[in-house]
Amino acid sequence: MRYFPLFADLKGRRVLVVGGGDVAERKVRLLLDAGAQVDVVAPALNEWLSKRLVAGPGPDRETGLEPAPCWWLARHFDAAQLRGAVLVIAATDDRSVNASVAAAAHSMSILANVVDDAELSGFIVPAIVDRSPLVIAISSGGTAPVLARLVREQIEVLFDESFGALASLLERWRSRIKAAFPELTARRRFYETAVRSAAGGAMRRRRPDDADQWLAREIGKPAVAGAGSVAIVGAGPGDPGLLTLNALRALQSADVILHDRLVSTEVLALARRDAECIEVGKQARGQSVTQQHINALMVEHAGSGRRVVRLKGGDPFVFGRGGEELECLVAHGIPFEVVPGITAAVACGAYAGIPLTHRDHAQSVQFVTAHRAESLPARDWDALSAPGQTLCFYMGVGELASLGARLIAHGRGEDTPVAVIENGSRPEQRVTLARLAELDDLAARGRLCSPAMVIVGEVASFAAALHWYGAEPRQWEALRRVA
Ligand code: SAH
Repeated sequence: MRYFPLFADLKGRRVLVVGGGDVAERKVRLLLDAGAQVDVVAPALNEWLSKRLVAGPGPDRETGLEPAPCWWLARHFDAAQLRGAVLVIAATDDRSVNASVAAAAHSMSILANVVDDAELSGFIVPAIVDRSPLVIAISSGGTAPVLARLVREQIEVLFDESFGALASLLERWRSRIKAAFPELTARRRFYETAVRSAAGGAMRRRRPDDADQWLAREIGKPAVAGAGSVAIVGAGPGDPGLLTLNALRALQSADVILHDRLVSTEVLALARRDAECIEVGKQARGQSVTQQHINALMVEHAGSGRRVVRLKGGDPFVFGRGGEELECLVAHGIPFEVVPGITAAVACGAYAGIPLTHRDHAQSVQFVTAHRAESLPARDWDALSAPGQTLCFYMGVGELASLGARLIAHGRGEDTPVAVIENGSRPEQRVTLARLAELDDLAARGRLCSPAMVIVGEVASFAAALHWYGAEPRQWEALRRVA
């Protein structure tokens, strides 16, 4: 290991910063955050520094607190300025100035950092993920700052903002937890459970009181497997890039994943390696899994202390029966959270180049299930057939011919554009463009497969010019003439 990692307590200690530009500003801000007393040496200051330094160290207008002092010491560097400093940072764009700062510091045994110059530096400043009091520092030893930044981005994803609050919470509980679990292994297990499930989940839901209650309750119990939980997670339409960061986090900390058939294998590949994956799709293994059975599985696994992810295609609350599953969890007192996903209509619109609303053509958009559409009363069909709106039919391929006929019968124009998007956002995505009057023919001869989204409305014709993903759209009219 080339560098010794450490976190320095700079409160009230003197640090010299040589340079007055934006880079220097970033360092000064960090140092002031840490309570250091900062002296700046620079021929000129950027806007923020000149405001901060000229105004002097008066109390902060928002907090009323006296900030750490920060002075503009001199225009030019002189080794004498280093006296009494514990660290110096050189952030000028003049390498000879930087070099003389480094040399002077070295001769006085003061650690110097020269920004972006590991060779001249006695210490380097890591990239950080700040979830104070939790701070994660990353360094590539000065060899590849870009790499360190990439790693930082990934860590930022793993530890969302709630981790800071969680760390403060655990700090408050620390002595009580230590007293309750004097033995180290038991204590570690308790912390793990607290972070991974209940207390961590409560902080993510912005319910700190729940976390306190949970800790107060659990701390009194003998060490047992922690309470399980369920995250109802939207997996999006297929492209794993459309997962939310919260969905990714849930997948990476899951013990059990109960997933629909619609969830793509690429998405499942992002789950924690040792998570148990159970397919509960409607037609799983040739048998249909009933909703009751799915509910029973969630209760059973969460009840035995496991972190369950109930993973659904698209969004769990859009034709996903997410509501029914939540009711079941509430009835059993199981803690849960809901992670929304990108619903198929939104994804198919985007990936086919179809804006679902448009100032000139569509003032509203409806998400409709074709599954029970045949049972809709006539006045609903009148409303659905009104012009100036976009209709997105879920589960519509099987009903395609009758959808077209009904909309026309209730007044929507025969020429209204329609797009059918099969496997939206997946590599095999196929878009077919047709007119409302052609849907019976398309249904009969188009060899359409599931899952598919049917988008009806003027906006559907935009796909011809705005498509950008996967295969070019097929024009049903042209195909028809050839046939
Ligand atoms: N909760 C899901 C919808 C479940 S209903 C969501 O929010 O997207 C299942 C229907 O969604 C399918 O019949 C199909 O109409 C649509 N669908 C789901 N994934 C799709 C995809 N990748 N491409 C096109 N349609 C899709």
